[in-house]
Amino acid sequence: MSHRSDFVDRHIGPNQYQIQTMLLELGFKDLDSFVKSVVPANIHIKGEIEKSLPNGISEVDALTEIKEIASQNKIMKNFIGAGYYGTITPNVILRNVLENPGWYTAYTPYQPEISQGRLEAIFAFQTAVTDLTGLAIANASMLDEATAAAEAMTLARRVWQGSDEAAFAIDANLHPHVKAVIETRAKPLKIKVIESDFKSEINEEIFAALIAYPNSTGEVKNIKPIIEKIQAKNALAIIDCDLLALTLFKSPGECGADIAMGSAQRFGVPVGFGGPHAGFMAVRNGLERSLPGRLVGQSVDSHGNLAFRLALQTREQHIRRDKATSNICTAQVLLAVISAFYAMWHGPSGLKTIATNIQKQAYDFRNSLQESNYSVGNYEIFDTVLVNTKDATQIYEAALSQGINLRLVDKEHLAVSFDEQSAPADLNDLLNLFNAKSNPIKKIVSNLNRASDFLTHPIFNTYHSETAMLRYIRTLSDRDLALDRTMIPLGSCTMKLNATSEMIPVTWPSFNSIHPFAPIDQSAGYTQLIESLSKWLVSVTGYDAVSLQPNAGSQGEFAGLLAIRNYLDSKGEQSRDICLIPSSAHGTNAASAVMAGMKVIVIACDENGNVSIDDLKIKIEQYKETLAALMVTYPSTHGVFESAISQICEMIHDAGGQVYVDGANLNALVGVAKPGKFGADVSHLNLHKTFCIPHGGGGPGVGPVIARSHLAPFLPNHPANKLAGPATGPGPVSSAPFGSASILPISWMYIRMMGGAGLTKATEVAILSANYLAKKIDPLFPVLYRGQNGHIAHECIIDLREITKKTGVTVDDVAKRLMDHGFHAPTVSFPVAGTMMIEPTESEDVRELDRFLAAMESIRGEITQIESGEITVEDSPLRHAPHTMGDLVRDDWDRKYSRQSGAFPNGESFGIGRGGKYLPTVGRIDGVYGDRNLVCSCLPIEELASN
Ligand SMILES: *Cc1c(COP(=O)(O)O)cnc(C)c1O
Repeated sequence: MSHRSDFVDRHIGPNQYQIQTMLLELGFKDLDSFVKSVVPANIHIKGEIEKSLPNGISEVDALTEIKEIASQNKIMKNFIGAGYYGTITPNVILRNVLENPGWYTAYTPYQPEISQGRLEAIFAFQTAVTDLTGLAIANASMLDEATAAAEAMTLARRVWQGSDEAAFAIDANLHPHVKAVIETRAKPLKIKVIESDFKSEINEEIFAALIAYPNSTGEVKNIKPIIEKIQAKNALAIIDCDLLALTLFKSPGECGADIAMGSAQRFGVPVGFGGPHAGFMAVRNGLERSLPGRLVGQSVDSHGNLAFRLALQTREQHIRRDKATSNICTAQVLLAVISAFYAMWHGPSGLKTIATNIQKQAYDFRNSLQESNYSVGNYEIFDTVLVNTKDATQIYEAALSQGINLRLVDKEHLAVSFDEQSAPADLNDLLNLFNAKSNPIKKIVSNLNRASDFLTHPIFNTYHSETAMLRYIRTLSDRDLALDRTMIPLGSCTMKLNATSEMIPVTWPSFNSIHPFAPIDQSAGYTQLIESLSKWLVSVTGYDAVSLQPNAGSQGEFAGLLAIRNYLDSKGEQSRDICLIPSSAHGTNAASAVMAGMKVIVIACDENGNVSIDDLKIKIEQYKETLAALMVTYPSTHGVFESAISQICEMIHDAGGQVYVDGANLNALVGVAKPGKFGADVSHLNLHKTFCIPHGGGGPGVGPVIARSHLAPFLPNHPANKLAGPATGPGPVSSAPFGSASILPISWMYIRMMGGAGLTKATEVAILSANYLAKKIDPLFPVLYRGQNGHIAHECIIDLREITKKTGVTVDDVAKRLMDHGFHAPTVSFPVAGTMMIEPTESEDVRELDRFLAAMESIRGEITQIESGEITVEDSPLRHAPHTMGDLVRDDWDRKYSRQSGAFPNGESFGIGRGGKYLPTVGRIDGVYGDRNLVCSCLPIEELASN
């Protein structure tokens, strides 16, 4: 046995003794023979990734190594702007949110009763966005600015009633990366994109127009007349805007816009070489049901108290599949939460002061240049000055040598963007560079001044002292159950350890202050990190090439299918557009296929939950001329290794199609099988599942797309960085060249510390723990699907449908009762309605697994009481779960069970013996009420008062 300081033994929960115990329980004497019995022989590998990955090293050594890598990044003074700005993360937020596992290890708030803290914070984010944009409803975050623009385009297209040929008009002066992502996304949908300066008439039919406010080189235009012209053509007006600028300028809503979107990055989130940050989108009334992404709404709980939960489109991909409004699943919750706290910390006047200082510097700079005879744009600006000079390149180079990054727009234009970090001394340095004398402007005159109030709600006007903010943050995180308190056994989501050592580099300035569009030689550390991580992922999966750009699994899916699309096109097979997807697939799969311009045909599953080979044969025959791809999850979403996978891949290839393996479940494969070798052509991986990036309460994520060599030329690239992908690629799928680059150190650290052998062992233990749990839980709740030799893979589905039929106890009742035990429920009703999917991961030790089993056993006992007629389901603690403090201490307690068993279903010592009793702050939430009475931002105080 290795020494305890070995990270592998810290990451893997069960120790050697516990591993033996589990093996014994399952009738095996060692891990090897167990794994052989589970993983189909035709795909099983052993000892392979150990050869291609370095050996694992200790936490101390890995941190030393990554520090050395980080030190190769050059920290400069940035005036590049272009969507990424210096910002000061308030330290109280940095330490207590961004660096706090109570926030970053939480899951997406599908179980709202244990998520009230982050739901309140996201609700505040939505309120900040609606207030600042002046629109009715904002969502809980988008993946970034450019994809938000693309989503706005597809939203507008969905509600469009006119002809299919109508075009999408974009501002000729949008940020180049925003334009590029729009192009990537428009092409497979056959949407024509035209550029306009919105001065000259648009003669074509358009379904929407996107106006930059301010535009890429700084101009703030009067958007009102432009919006009116666009709407006169029955098209929607979309405004790409800057939240900080909106504290000074008229809001899009006041100017009549239909949709506003942009990035909330400069609200306290470091640039981080491009991400992650929260994008945002807000819409006017009437468009809320088409809004992509997640939306937090207010509702009521079983006691009639206000409570938050996800509204409307929650999990809509799982329900609407190929009809979904978008494929966004994981978004940017943690970053939206940080931006919300930033808005609360500064409040409306603080934000306005920050914005005014920035604007004053920009105007002073411009005025000084003008007085020194520079040619500068003469229009309203917020933070960016455009300078027209023959010496542009020369000044740009001179700035570089002094540690300053400017934006070289072209040979004769420089753009200089100021931000919260710009100091008076910086302005002097800049003036020296331009050889100009300081000449501050007397008064800024504007016709576009914002007159309306914003952020008037108390939540933005209360937490300005550090004491108040610290306690508010703590109050919210106490309401939530994250991995720092309990296992979160969510099937398909792989909630494993997010080790502290993995997280530490994320907030180092040498990683988080690098601008994504700085000259490439300034990010040599990132280049090295990305190269080694890419190489490791390639060896783990058996593929040939990878792009780390997609910033969620869904985006990786789109990129992978697009690679297939473009590969087929390159062979002259444009007519192949059918994507076969099993009925059990994750909902994002179907939504992504549609985005890539494909038509979805559903393949049935057989009684064992496997892809029905018979149905597959029929569909292949039926679509053999037009088959583009099969998209299949492996191990299946039913949690089993299907032995037929290689045969399935062959059948698709023989019919001229490509095989996409959804690799989000890679936690069952690392070190034991390679999708790139058992027949697949392309996959996406979820680094926020298998490779330890925390879920952040619903994001950030990284969803690399990884492919065999014939698809490599069709992986994403980026106009701003030639290292980001092949010149032959389809363009970018994210704003930044490497997507959510600043969280890549997490996965790098994980792989570096585990090494090949550690990774393989993690997978083996994850499979072992899942099978141990399945065996123990089966007598209580039957396990639905099994693979060869009766084993499951890394997760199992338990079937409650029979129980529900007999007793009326639903999966929801069980999920909510688990909260009284201090547990986060497993995945509910996916992929099969009326079931739960449990994934323990390798990080949970046997004590925690047994504690979970004891909770499930206690719940089974309560169900038995209903079966035997001792208590009705309506009167049972299951139906009244979860129990809040208010509920338990009621003077008029009249339940048919004791308070004691309500609060401590497994006895007091069990409940508090381990870290204290968790009490949800709200009772069961009425979701339907919330959807009927949609409230998605804080009510104005006047309305609060009258409530
Ligand atoms: C999580 C998951 C996805 C989607 O990934 P996101 O990062 O949430 O977009 C796709 N497929 C499967 C099987 C998943 O589990």
